This record gives sequence, structure tokens and C-alpha cells, in this order.
Amino acid sequence: MGEQIKIFRDTWAEINLDHISYNVESMKRHVSDGAIVIAVIKANGYGHGDAAVAEAALEAGASYLAVATLDEAMALRKKKIQAPILVMGASRPENAGDAAKENIALTVFQKDWLSNAKEYIRTGEELRIHLKFDTGMGRLGIRSRNELEGIESAAKRDGHFLIEGVFTHFATADSLDNHYFEQQLSRFEEMIGWMEEVPKYVHSSNSAAGLRFPKAHLNAVRMGISMYGLAPSMEMKPELPFPLKEAFSLHTKIVHVKKIHKGEKVSYGAAYEAKEDEWIATLPIGYADGWVRKLQGQEVLVEGFRVPIVGRICMDQCMIKLPYEKPVGTQVTLIGEQDGARIPVDEIARKLETINYEVTCMVSSRVPRIYKRDGLVIGGVNYLL
Ligand SMILES: *Cc1c(COP(=O)(O)O)cnc(C)c1O
Repeated sequence: MGEQIKIFRDTWAEINLDHISYNVESMKRHVSDGAIVIAVIKANGYGHGDAAVAEAALEAGASYLAVATLDEAMALRKKKIQAPILVMGASRPENAGDAAKENIALTVFQKDWLSNAKEYIRTGEELRIHLKFDTGMGRLGIRSRNELEGIESAAKRDGHFLIEGVFTHFATADSLDNHYFEQQLSRFEEMIGWMEEVPKYVHSSNSAAGLRFPKAHLNAVRMGISMYGLAPSMEMKPELPFPLKEAFSLHTKIVHVKKIHKGEKVSYGAAYEAKEDEWIATLPIGYADGWVRKLQGQEVLVEGFRVPIVGRICMDQCMIKLPYEKPVGTQVTLIGEQDGARIPVDEIARKLETINYEVTCMVSSRVPRIYKRDGLVIGGVNYLL
């Protein structure tokens, strides 16, 4: 970062790193004494950009990073991120040596995995592992005492592995009904009791549990969605322990403006018909950018006013209806703030009948990410160049 980035099309996502810092600092203050913040930056930092978010989070007090896949962890190492990284998903035993060499911790939940993996770790190298317990998510993890004892003793018998952590994942921490959460937490505590030795990091909380349940902080909180300033669920919004600041915004600029007459049509299918003389502007953003066809009819901001997308959204472009003529080059905000008006990520999620997590992730790699601090551009990534 720091260098000027080249962008040839006026469509970009802007990431407010001050907000990422603020969210991490707030969580750091909120977590129990002695607990660390693990910044979850899988899926290119939930679409915000992996390295830039990692740097901001580490600077703000996070001390560990987590991703979903070994490829994501390797990508961070390639970008010179040196902090400890945990891969939370499954990795191949054949790649255990690659992870050990890059000081990347892997998630383990099968005994066979360990016996296969040790063949791939060079003598003198050690792979850090976190054991995953399935306490009710039903996705990955050890479920029985038998399995756990087999895995723990196999890992300890072999000098290639260091059990650095143990963790689980909640299925319902974002729901105001705490029943299933409590059940999972008790099961986790019970399973930890089965261990011969409790490892350095014992972690269970995602953002929702981190925000709502100090007793689930243990000694590390895995902070994902809330680091980006988004609430884990709508029902949790009224009871956040500190306000969150959204980091993501999406912008473009008008590339063409025209007046069409009553009865004239717009876009594929000629499905939109002007009811009167109308000003129509064309925007260089479409479904290949993640601005999906279901967003037809969604409003966008032009000079702080809401105007609708009309006609079908194309692969690379879409059209909006303006109240009056605006010049080519006028900035249009699709997500975020403009002149005191705001379209939050949650509004797009509602329109798409999905969750905010999906919205920032789906803005595709064709859209460059621009990073701002104190209102100034400090860098960016154009994934195409
Ligand atoms: C994605 C993920 C998280 C982060 O969850 P948020 O709800 O985004 O905070 C934590 N733990 C695991 C295992 C995950 O897969």
C-alpha cells in the first residue's frame, strides 16, 4: 500500500480503515482480561481485502489472524503478513509441511489426518494445530471422547505437532433465544475437561458470542463480521455493547445521460418503459461485479438523493432514472454514505433476502478496493492489473 493504484473504469469499493481500527479497538476493550482478538479475514476479508484489513486489525490490537483455507493463508504470507494465522477449515494432510514451513496453524479433527500428515513434515519442523470440537454446529469437528483421546495422544506421541489451541463454533449465538448456545457452551466445557492438557488457546466465540456473552470469551474471540462494522443479525442490532462502524462502500460514476420519451424502452427484454419523458443515466457496474440482477429496482444515491435502478441489470452496466439531467462523471453511491444520505449494507441484504455477510463477499474481484485513512486514499488493489 501507499502507492497510487491504476484504475481505468470508474467503479470501486472504498474501505474505511479507520472504522476497521475502531471496531477492533472496541472489541479489544470489550473482551475479557487476557483474551486475544483473532481477526477473521477469510474470503478476502469478507470482500474488503485481506492484507489491508489484516494490517489494520493487527495495528488496532488483534494478535492472531484466521482464514478458511490454506490458500488464503499462503496469500497473506506472500503479501508479507507475518502474524500467526489459523486455517479454520479442512486442509489436506499432504500440505501439512507447507503450512509448517510458513508457520501457519491448521485445524485438525481426525486421527487419520495426523498419521498421514506427519509424513509430510520435515524433521525439525513443527506444525501448530488447533483441535476442532463439534459441539452442535454439525459441520467439522471431534464429537466423542474416544475420538478426542485418540487424536490428542497421537498428536502428543509424535514430535511433529504442537497442539496450540482447541475451538468450537456456535450455530445460534446471533439469535436472542440462548438455549442452544448454552447447550453448546456446556458441551464445549465438558469436552475440554476430557483433555489431558488444556492448550494455550481455547476459543469458541464468533462476533455474535463475542459481543453478547463474556463467559464464552475464554482466551480468544474470533472477530469476523463485526470487525467490518456489520451486526451478526438483525435481532442483535438493538443490544450491541458498542456501536459498530461500517467500513465498506461501493461507488461508480455516470458514463452516459439521455432523455427518453414516453413509451421508449430500457435494457434487455425492453421490459422497462418510460411513462413520461425521463432522464436515464447509465452506470458502469453490473452483475459480473456482484451487482446482481435481483437488485433491479434498488435505489442508489446521486447528490444525496435516492433514485431507482430501472430495467434489467446487465453484466457490466445498469441504468438509473434521474429526476433531472446530471453530467457524465457524477458520482453515484450504491452502498454507503453520500451527502448525508446512506444506503447501509443491511438494506442491500434485505432487498436480496440474504444476510449482510453475503453482500460484501459478493462484490467481485473486478471491482478494485480503495483504502482510506482520515478521509485520504492510502492505497488500493486492482485485482485485474
Ligand atoms: C467465519 C467464522 C468466524 C467469524 O464469524 P463472524 O460471525 O463473522 O464473526 C468465526 N469462526 C469460524 C469457525 C468461522 O468460520
